Amino acid sequence: MSTTTYDSGPLLDALAAAAEDRIVFDLPGIEERYDALCRELPDVAVRFAMKACPVDEVLARLARRGCGVDAASPKEVEQALAAGVPISRMHYGNTVKSDRNIADAFRLGIRDFATDSLEDVRAVAEHAPGSRVFCRLATTGEGALWGLSNKYGCSPDDALTILETARDLGLTPAGLSVHVGSQQMTADAWHGAVDRIADVLAALARRGISLDHVNLGGGLPALGYRDKHGRPLDPPLDKIFAVIREGMAHLAGIPGHRLRFVIEPGRHLTADHGAIRAHVSRLAARRGPDGERQYWLYLSCGKFNGLYEMDQLQYRLVFPSHRDAESVPAVIAGPTCDSDDAYSHEDGLVPVPRELASGDPVWVLSCGAYATSYMTQGFNGFSPLPYTWIDGEAA
Ligand SMILES: *Cc1c(COP(=O)(O)O)cnc(C)c1O
Repeated sequence: MSTTTYDSGPLLDALAAAAEDRIVFDLPGIEERYDALCRELPDVAVRFAMKACPVDEVLARLARRGCGVDAASPKEVEQALAAGVPISRMHYGNTVKSDRNIADAFRLGIRDFATDSLEDVRAVAEHAPGSRVFCRLATTGEGALWGLSNKYGCSPDDALTILETARDLGLTPAGLSVHVGSQQMTADAWHGAVDRIADVLAALARRGISLDHVNLGGGLPALGYRDKHGRPLDPPLDKIFAVIREGMAHLAGIPGHRLRFVIEPGRHLTADHGAIRAHVSRLAARRGPDGERQYWLYLSCGKFNGLYEMDQLQYRLVFPSHRDAESVPAVIAGPTCDSDDAYSHEDGLVPVPRELASGDPVWVLSCGAYATSYMTQGFNGFSPLPYTWIDGEAA
């Protein structure tokens, strides 16, 4: 068991006070993470990638601090508007959109659209006439837990064609964007992205296209995960920020553009400030097909109700009723009949108290990102978790 400084006392207190399963969001913790990001990257517009935590209270608190939103569908735009995010601080960051998605977003007031293909940019020109577009460049995704490298983004050459076409169709070619991959663990990834953007900016300037912004995308890491083997991931956050600052200075010096900068963190803002109070379904020892006896700890929540990313990483667990107890190595798994509903059992067993009984509380830390958005309606009848939050403000 390890708890580090980003697990706030109030969050742990709220977990201790919960008698039933739930996910708890620490709103002051999320605000502090946002403030820290603004200190690290002053003058950069932060637009929260809301799919990481589409919770009204989270959106409202971030909005109040000046944060914008990266939305991926008209429904997300509507939710963010209702939570108090001004439309002027939102863009449509999804390059995948139907004609109807574009028209609906335009009607809601969106004037900034991501794009990465001629087909899409033509559709934006038709259904959101006169809008601004920014072109997403493909990245390798190397160094990230989730590379996101195939589905999105175009080559530097295609970006030139797409932005020229945008201009010819009456759109404003406004920017370039990247996404270096989710939970990016290396500062080098941003180096590579900056170099790529720099080349395209220079080529655009030669063709008389002047951009007004660069969107550095998502990928900023959460701090509290463990890898598949149970080792702390420990991302080099300070170095990442230093590389981003250097990169922005370099890009701002490229002639022909007057650039602002935008960044779209998702998990970085919320992951470490959400935690689940779950309970033990059963600690059992079974012999598998190989004849080996193996402990399995089945929890009340898993991949389909809060721990969607459990096949790629390990969330930290706390067993509050068995601190400092004798432990056994176990595979951690959720309650459903899906075999993916488990930590990767080839890679890493987790020490768990030997005496755990059905019903004992378990806290799952750093699961405030991609938890609620990935919950199913109730796979196998295991309900999505209800959520609560720590307000942190005197009534
Ligand atoms: C999901 C997404 C993000 C956020 O990614 P994180 O890795 O959570 O920071 C940012 N921008 C876009 C376009 C996305 O799709």
